[in-house]
Amino acid sequence: MRGPESHALVVGGSLSGLCAGLALARAGWTVTTVERAAGEPPGGAGLGVDRLLVSEVTGVDADAIPVVRGNRDSAAWGLVRQFLLEATQRTAGIEFIEATTVRGIRQPTEPDSVSVDSTAGVLTADMVVGADGVYSVTRGFVAPDHPTAGYAGYMLWRGLVPEAEVPGGLDGRGTNLEVHGAPGAQLVVYGVPGPDGRTDPGHRRVSYAWYDASRTDLLRRKGCLQGDTVVGSLSSDQLSAELTGELAQLARRNWPSPWDRCIAWGVTHGEIFGTPVAEYLPSRLALRRVVLVGDAAHVASPMTGAGFQNALLDVAALAARVRGGSRADVEGALRRYEHQRLPDVRELVSSGMAWGRSYRSRA
Ligand SMILES: Cc1cc2nc3c(=O)[nH]c(=O)nc-3n(C[C@H](O)[C@H](O)[C@H](O)COP(=O)(O)OP(=O)(O)OC[C@H]3O[C@@H](n4cnc5c(N)ncnc54)[C@H](O)[C@@H]3O)c2cc1C
Repeated sequence: MRGPESHALVVGGSLSGLCAGLALARAGWTVTTVERAAGEPPGGAGLGVDRLLVSEVTGVDADAIPVVRGNRDSAAWGLVRQFLLEATQRTAGIEFIEATTVRGIRQPTEPDSVSVDSTAGVLTADMVVGADGVYSVTRGFVAPDHPTAGYAGYMLWRGLVPEAEVPGGLDGRGTNLEVHGAPGAQLVVYGVPGPDGRTDPGHRRVSYAWYDASRTDLLRRKGCLQGDTVVGSLSSDQLSAELTGELAQLARRNWPSPWDRCIAWGVTHGEIFGTPVAEYLPSRLALRRVVLVGDAAHVASPMTGAGFQNALLDVAALAARVRGGSRADVEGALRRYEHQRLPDVRELVSSGMAWGRSYRSRA
């Protein structure tokens, strides 16, 4: 698989796809990454980041990713993506194409290549890396009998609240990740850097994730669920004044200080979006010359807190498997990748499912 003729097409230019592109370029491949969105995708709150692992997997010094250091390193999703995108743009051998949607993998006609249909026409490579997230289209080729992620039976209200806006301030909190419970609900809250990357008190933001198992009817009415499949999420402008009023009231009642004031502020100032939680327990990670990484490969409850970490482990395993082999052995390398990663990712997703069952039984 070595040499300039080895070409990977990465579908999806979010965290997994960007890391995959960097790791494959480092392993000697030329890479084309195709991303559906034009410009910076909207949304994003906070996530845990292991900068050492990012550096090891991508070969890019990730110390420049701003993090709030506490009982874990917490980053803002948008700043991590921006860091990876800039690293990609600096790296020779990676072409990044925006505003192009892959519609699906073409049924193979040639033994030594693979092609996709996209809005830019047919694109051909030696290997396709599906990094197209929870609603993956590449998964439909790898696992045609089980192509979609299912609804986990609960949702998350998420947002980023500027620390400086929290009425009364944070009482010295905001560094550590905290988990709080209330009847039917659970809250995970932690500080992340400000939009400019500042991490000093007063300039950070609070990332909150509020688990809510009582909104399935709302999600159906708003078209976020089709049957048991998650097909969309809720932006703040889709929420009625009545609902935001109710959520603000619940925030004040359910959550301890300072998070009651913080989240009530977020809810009433548009710093809220609703995400139905999806889960995908994979039985395949690769087929022929198509391989899945990140949320395309496996979707675990956010409560596991390990989505990005496992995407990095996928990419590390993939890059190791395709480094130094022969072009003809791509399929064998991808089978070995699947063999290596499948048990771990199944365990991760299963642990999130067990947490979800226990949470829903208490809700
Ligand atoms: C806008 C956004 C915000 C997020 N915010 C957070 C957050 O705050 N905290 C957190 O823990 N996780 C967040 N996530 C999810 C997080 O990125 C993943 O759980 C994890 O990091 C693995 O990412 P991924 O790259 O596999 O999937 P995703 O991040 O979902 O990325 C998939 C990418 O593929 C692109 N894509 C999808 N379909 C196609 C197609 N057919 N053709 C071309 N491109 C396609 C999408 O536009 C997207 O950029 C966010 C994801 C997105 C897209």
